[in-house]
This record gives sequence, C-alpha cells and structure tokens, in this order.
Amino acid sequence: MAMECATLGPMPKDFLKNAQSRYDVVVIGSGLAGLTAANVLARQGRSVLLLEQHYKLGGMATWFKRPGGHIFDISLHGFPYGMVKSCRRYWSKEIADSIVQLDGVRFDNPMFSLQTSFTREDFTKKLIENFKLAPEQVHAFFDKARGMNFYDDQQTTTRELFDEFFPGREDVIRLLMEPITYANGSTLEDPAISYGIVFSNFMSKGVFTFRGGTDKLIGQMTEVLQESGVDVCIRCDVTKINLNHGKVASVEVNGRTIECDAIVSNANLRATIFNLVGEEKFDRGFIDDARAVRLNNSSTQVYMAMREDESLDVNELGDLLFSSTAPTFQTEALLSRDITSRTYSFYYPKVRPEGQPRHLIVSSTNARHEDWADLPDDDYEASKKDLCETTLDALDKYVPNVRERLVHIEASTPRTFQHYTAHIAGASFGTKFEGLAVSRALPQQITGLYHAGSVGIIMSGWLGAMNYGVIVANEVDNQLMTGGSASTTGFEKTVAGEVAS
Ligand SMILES: Cc1cc2nc3c(=O)[nH]c(=O)nc-3n(C[C@H](O)[C@H](O)[C@H](O)COP(=O)(O)OP(=O)(O)OC[C@H]3O[C@@H](n4cnc5c(N)ncnc54)[C@H](O)[C@@H]3O)c2cc1C
Repeated sequence: MAMECATLGPMPKDFLKNAQSRYDVVVIGSGLAGLTAANVLARQGRSVLLLEQHYKLGGMATWFKRPGGHIFDISLHGFPYGMVKSCRRYWSKEIADSIVQLDGVRFDNPMFSLQTSFTREDFTKKLIENFKLAPEQVHAFFDKARGMNFYDDQQTTTRELFDEFFPGREDVIRLLMEPITYANGSTLEDPAISYGIVFSNFMSKGVFTFRGGTDKLIGQMTEVLQESGVDVCIRCDVTKINLNHGKVASVEVNGRTIECDAIVSNANLRATIFNLVGEEKFDRGFIDDARAVRLNNSSTQVYMAMREDESLDVNELGDLLFSSTAPTFQTEALLSRDITSRTYSFYYPKVRPEGQPRHLIVSSTNARHEDWADLPDDDYEASKKDLCETTLDALDKYVPNVRERLVHIEASTPRTFQHYTAHIAGASFGTKFEGLAVSRALPQQITGLYHAGSVGIIMSGWLGAMNYGVIVANEVDNQLMTGGSASTTGFEKTVAGEVAS
C-alpha cells in the first residue's frame, strides 16, 4: 500500500517517517523521468521509494502561485504530440485526455514575421510560398530529418545539415532552428540527429500543451503513483549512494540509510557520478568521459500577470511567440545577457478553465549560469530588475502599454533553477549530447545504478525525459528479474521508437 511519507504538523517533521528500510528500487528525484520510472516499476510489481529533495514533485515541470489567483507555469510552453501516447500508456487516459494543441505559434524577427500551426504541412507551405524554396528541396529536407535515428552518423552537425539543403539561407535556418534551440538548448554545432529527431517530433502534428496547468498534471500523477503503490517522500535530499562489491546497496537520506537492489537517479548526471557516488568508484576511462560531458545552458524567465480587468487576444498574439531583434540567428547571441531573443508564452483562461480567468505572460531566454552565479546580492537584485524592465520594453511592441496593464512581475535566473532542482549550474536541459553515452554506461560500471533524466538533447524536454524514464524502468525491471548484470540491448531501437513517436 503506497503512502505519503510526509505528514503535515508542527516541526520538526520526519519526512521519511513511513518509509520502509528496504526497497527493490529507490528513485532519486521526481522530474518527469523519475516520476515515470517510479510509476512503471511499481506497476511491474516492484517496491519503489521515490525521494525528492524539494517540497514539490515535478522537478522542472513545476509552477508557482501568487496572490490574486495567478499560477505561473515554468516549463509548460509546448511539447510534441508523442506526449499523448506516453501519458496514456504510462500514466492514465485522464492525463492524456487533457493534452491539447496550441492555437498558434508566431515568429517575429528582422528577417520575417509569420504565424504557423508548426506542422510539416504548414512549414512546407511557408517555405515554398514565403521563402521561395523549390518544393523538392523542402520535401527532401523533411524526409531526411524524419528518417534520422540513433544509428545515424553522429559527426554531421546541424549547421552542415542545413548547408546541404539550404546553403546561404540564414532566414530559413532561423525558422527551422530557433524554436528547437529554445526547446532543448541545442545549437548549430550539435549533431544533426539531435536536431532531426526533435524537429520531426514537433512537425508530426504541431505543438501541444496540458490543459489545466502543470499543477493539475503533477497532482494527477501523484494520485496515479499512489494507486501504483509507490512510496513518495518529499524534502528528502539523497546525499550518498552506498555500494557493496561494485553493486548498489543503499542510499543515505535525511540521516537514514535505506537499502535497495537498484537505484534510478533522476538527479543531474554529473551530480550523480561525482557527488552521490564518488569518482573513485568508477573506471578511469569512464570518469574521463564523464568529465568531458558538457552541461546544457540554463535560462532566465520573467513572469507577468495582467490586471483582472485586462485581457490578451489569442487571435492576435497566439500561444507562443519567438521574437528577436538580432539581425541574424546566432546561438551565442541567444545566450548573451544582452538579450535580443525572447520566447513569450501567453496563457489565457483556457489554460486553466477551472481556475480564475487570468491572463499571464512568461518570457523565457536561454542564459549562462556564469553570468549570474557570482553576482553580489545587490547586483543580482539589480540585474533581475533590469531583466524585468528590458523585457517590458521589448514586450510593449506586442502588448501595448504593458506596464500599466500588469499587476505582477518577477524574474528567475540560472541561480533559481539551480536552487530548486539541484541541477549543476541550473542546467535547463541536463547535459549535451555526449551525456547520453555516459548515462547509458552507468549500469556497466556499477550494477544496479541507472540514470534517467534530461541528457543529450533527444532525451530532454517533457517527452524525452518521460520516455527515458520508461526505457530505464524496463531495464531495471529486466535486471531485477534476471538478477544478472545490466543489459541495455535494444535501447537504440527503443530510443528511435519511443522518442520519435
Ligand atoms: C525555463 C524552462 C523551460 C522549459 N520549457 C520546456 C517546454 O516548453 N517543453 C518541454 O518539453 N520541456 C521544457 N523544458 C525542459 C523540461 O522541463 C525538462 O527537460 C524536464 O522537465 C526534465 O525532467 P527530468 O526528468 O530530467 O528531471 P528534472 O526536472 O531535472 O528534475 C530532477 C529532480 O531531481 C531532484 N533531485 C536532484 N538531486 C536530488 C537529490 N540528491 N535527492 C533528491 N532529489 C533530487 C530535483 O529536485 C528535481 O525535482 C524547460 C525547462 C526550463 C528550465
């Protein structure tokens, strides 16, 4: 019988009060990968303990409330249609049924302005009619992107892919690349397969969202976890993974040791290896590879709530607006603190039909942790204020007189993301591509130790993280069943099937 380990009451609280001393599997972290892995394993009959250091489940899939009925979503901007299938299969029909398509995606930059349904059909039309490309060229590009899978050449970069099909067309590259850079932090220098798979996922049917908001989704997932029999404990910061003869033995959490046969770490990959286990426990070559894994970039966001008597027009603004004042598309410019590119998500009462009718805007930008990490408190606060002010200046073009129409504004920075999710450097999408191989190799290093969570661009974002949780859960189950060493057979096939669906 599943139980919630935390009970509300006067301090001090023992957040592990109802946890057993031993489980088949301990899942560290409740991001979408951790939650999904825990649920799948419990449904397979395993005893599962889910430990989350924060006071809320969800990781980056989170939200916060402000007085006046305002609820801000952090990472609910858009995901591919594949979420419907994954939610139905691994969660519930009820969750899958709340997934709806965004009404409109807009682009506005010095090279072009357009509105699109963000589907292959509409992009093809735009590329032929607006960008004057030959139909064969466009079809060939889509076919190539769609045909990419994990087996493909990992040397070709996204820039080389674009140069092959659209040489000299920086405007076309901008249209094709800007949303994906936003969606998973990938750059023109990353392997083309990471672009092709994610881009094709979106193009299959468009961009989708969860009606009811992240709070509803995580609430429903929590109920399903209870039904599946997962013991869930919040405010439980795992500080150590203990081994016994090269095999996982237990975790240290809130002063207790909990034994287990397998561990799925949903914590940052590098934190898992270097902080929770310790590099001395791994082969030298593995540690060299792990050290070479680059973290993905972080983000800043500005959260704005319109006054109750104010509204936003969905027909005019759409749901998602990729705006930029930079003359051309450059990854470096996207990361700069001198922000020229912002992605606005407009939230209308339709997002939370059961809540109070509120109109909200969240502006997101990619950002470097080092630009924010060491600012003294005064400078940090001043920089956040400046971020809000420059965002309002930029937003005025789309929402005239926005300053007078707002009732609330605040900002988050890479420091905020690091604080709440314990991701090194506040990485929004885990690690770069090379992280995937290191994540996959963990169980060969230490029997029973697995990692599931944003890595390698493909396995990031809501869909990628969730599907990675499923893949890893199946491997853990397999290992527990055979009692043998880890097998990752079939992973590549599964990646192509699960992620690209
Ligand atoms: C600003 C922003 C916007 C985004 N927008 C989108 C979007 O529109 N669409 C999309 O698909 N994706 C988006 N993403 C990405 C998406 O949210 C993430 O890729 C995904 O949610 C990550 O899931 P995860 O399973 O990797 O875990 P994470 O969300 O990273 O969660 C990891 C969890 O582990 C916990 N943890 C870490 N260490 C420990 C420990 N030692 N003990 C216990 N618990 C621990 C953390 O507290 C956290 O809850 C966005 C991300 C950001 C930051």
